[in-house]
Amino acid sequence: MTEHAGDTDPRLAQLRENLAAVRQRIAAAAAAAGRQDHPPRLIVVTKFHPAQDVRRLASLGISDVGENRDQEASDKAAQLHDAQLRWHFIGQLQSNKAKSVVKYAHSVHSVDRPQLATALARAMAAEQERAGRAPLECFIQVSLDEDADRHRGGALPAEVPALAEQLAGAEGLRLAGVMAVAPLKADPAAAFERLAAISAGLAAQYPDATGISAGMSQDLEAAIRCGATHLRIGSDILGPRPALR
Ligand SMILES: *Cc1c(COP(=O)(O)O)cnc(C)c1O
Repeated sequence: MTEHAGDTDPRLAQLRENLAAVRQRIAAAAAAAGRQDHPPRLIVVTKFHPAQDVRRLASLGISDVGENRDQEASDKAAQLHDAQLRWHFIGQLQSNKAKSVVKYAHSVHSVDRPQLATALARAMAAEQERAGRAPLECFIQVSLDEDADRHRGGALPAEVPALAEQLAGAEGLRLAGVMAVAPLKADPAAAFERLAAISAGLAAQYPDATGISAGMSQDLEAAIRCGATHLRIGSDILGPRPALR
């Protein structure tokens, strides 16, 4: 008789099922967009969920996870140092956390101002000297909100060129592309179209900076249609987060 690990760990079985459903949605959306041959990378956003869940996801073949708070991410990365995982930092980041973040992060998706880029470059110089790590992938977070009152973070589109120039010129950093969160109560497709246009402008000048980090549980289909290369999916895989904030 063969036994699946899910038989004895109901949480693993649940994650496997949720993951299969999300992968199915991604495959369908990629096929509909004619992107079967270059589907987006799935980053599972594990914020607020325990390190044990991240371990379960790793056992299910997940290689990329996303976190939005340095303390939590740093603790989990330490607990999971033996797993082959890429850690993506996706939240608002204070410059004084740069030193900590570069110790575990493969990428930062939320670079939104020159001071943060400077802090990351400085931290990477020290970290590369210490540990010889690969360059930090940096996405410029762009605000797609046309109403300043409902700002969900990010640089204004007009600020992107200067930030791109700074990131592209910084040793230890690699300009990977753009990132955005769809504005609340607006059509995500229209917002992601604006992001795609900003991305095209960036890639025209920096041919390697073709990344588009967009698409969450609610809007991954629209994001894939608009060319997302990195999806950040949390609740549809892990379930609801405890309401801490
Ligand atoms: C939490 C979070 C996500 C994941 O959102 P879900 O709706 O749970 O899929 C994606 N991106 C960012 C920036 C987040 O903070």
